[in-house]
Amino acid sequence: MEVAMLCTRVSLLILILSLCSPYKFIQSPMDFGPLNLLPTTTTASSDFGRILFHSPAAVLKPQSSRDISLLLSFLSGSSLSKVTVAARGAGHSIHGQAQALDGIVVEMSSLPAEIEFYKGGEGEISYADVSGGVMWIDLLELSLKLGLAPRSWTDYLYLTVGGTLSNAGISGQTFKHGPQISNVLQLEVVTGRGEIVTCSPSKDADLFNAVLGGLGQFGIITRARILLQEAPQKVKWVRAFYDDFSIFTKDQELLVSMPDLVDYVEGFIVLNEQSLHSSSIAFPANVDFNPDFGTKNSPNIYYCIEFAVHDYQHKNTNVEQVVEVISRQMSHMVSQLYSVEVSYFDFLNRVRMEEMSLRSIGLWEVHHPWLNMFVPKAGINDFRDLLMDNVSPDSFEGLILIYPLLRDKWDTNTSVVLPDSGSTDRVMYVVGILRSANPEGGCSHHCLQELLRRHRRIADTAGVHLGAKQYLAHHPTPSGWHQHFGRRWERFAERKNRFDPLRILGPGQGIFPRRDDNAAFGS
Ligand code: FAD
Repeated sequence: MEVAMLCTRVSLLILILSLCSPYKFIQSPMDFGPLNLLPTTTTASSDFGRILFHSPAAVLKPQSSRDISLLLSFLSGSSLSKVTVAARGAGHSIHGQAQALDGIVVEMSSLPAEIEFYKGGEGEISYADVSGGVMWIDLLELSLKLGLAPRSWTDYLYLTVGGTLSNAGISGQTFKHGPQISNVLQLEVVTGRGEIVTCSPSKDADLFNAVLGGLGQFGIITRARILLQEAPQKVKWVRAFYDDFSIFTKDQELLVSMPDLVDYVEGFIVLNEQSLHSSSIAFPANVDFNPDFGTKNSPNIYYCIEFAVHDYQHKNTNVEQVVEVISRQMSHMVSQLYSVEVSYFDFLNRVRMEEMSLRSIGLWEVHHPWLNMFVPKAGINDFRDLLMDNVSPDSFEGLILIYPLLRDKWDTNTSVVLPDSGSTDRVMYVVGILRSANPEGGCSHHCLQELLRRHRRIADTAGVHLGAKQYLAHHPTPSGWHQHFGRRWERFAERKNRFDPLRILGPGQGIFPRRDDNAAFGS
């Protein structure tokens, strides 16, 4: 064992010397010892955004939490070290958040994919203990076999548990159960100092709270205990169309005020034929909506609310009747309400169908200049106007999601940043501008840069004038991050000093440049 440790230390030292040397004298693959540090791969320097490609010096494929601990203990004990480390989940970030320029990327998918269930009896909770690199789709498939499922989701399930818990994890269930970070009972974390800590709201709570929504800055999540509930067999899935934004948001707020009846609420803007049809691939209803989109100079914009009601067949719930009770209170366009019943699995896995369809026409692996914002309820009309000033409805490619969330379902002790609650509004909105920019379709470098500039303009204006905050945020400078965190900055920085004092972790976020090496950080 001691020989193995020595090998590890020697190979890490070689790596560190290579990274610190002005000559970068080690260029070729080398013996990285038992830690299995490997030469970099194209995967380690890319992500879903396809905007930044920062190459690490090496990749770690850990077989256990201990491998990660060995790496971080060694780096945090070496004053020579300027090496940074990023955990990489499924690499579905947009702006290189899981990348580590000249550093080390830890491929979380290499951890053994362990999922263990505890099924509680009557009145008891059920949960799953899951490795940090496990994808939500795998947890869903296994938990359904026991009649269970997590309560809170993301729209897309090919994301890792550690990756979404480092952000928040939101979807149409968030109004009811809170984000995924509100549905975790315990974590195992390897801190930036290399300590392996099991933490929860009652043990090492500060680390637990720091890591949730912590953008990978404080530790690497190697295991999470996820709360489960009884899974429905089917879901009644409803879409209703609107031609008035205020009525659309009023109805969304009505739906989130009925958590006893409604299990999921989202919505999107219908800008053109493409946005109507691309989001309908997984929705197997015969939608007979043929809106007049107007002209380029005078476009007509529509909106769609999507809600769902769980169907537990053994409970004999009459979902038709529930939908009838709900929809009678709504004010959608006359006869523009469509519903369909699908399996719970197909409902949760709906974006996979969109993915397959886009892959089949070569439109999945394109640039994704996405912008997600949390917008206070008081600013949502102004945000809609700001958005429309920066979007061309006839040529927009992608999807614009808008749906309400409820503040009191979020724990403010976690690291997540929400708009300040200046008013008593319980409701806030998330708006996701999920653009695709296809170089083959004419959107190459200049076009992409222009879209990024527009998104920055939206984010900056909405931040200053409406108090909106980015979700899955990207800020090009540390000062942008100070502003982003606002009054929460001090707590965030203090937690960084405590759990990762050498600023080894999460360089791709660009929040904490290594004091001595600003050059190693992406823009
Ligand atoms: P990565 O992109 O690999 O990593 C993200 C960040 O987390 C990085 O900073 C990384 O260093 C850090 N990290 C990764 N693993 C760990 C770990 N184990 N411990 C500590 N830090 C870690 N998000 C939503 O909330 N709701 C949605 O509905 C939603 N839909 C999406 C749909 C698509 C098609 C895509 C591409 C993304 C979507 N996202 C959504 C965004 C997604 O939650 C984030 O991109 C998330 O970061 C992706 O997880 P990942 O596993 O790919 O993480």
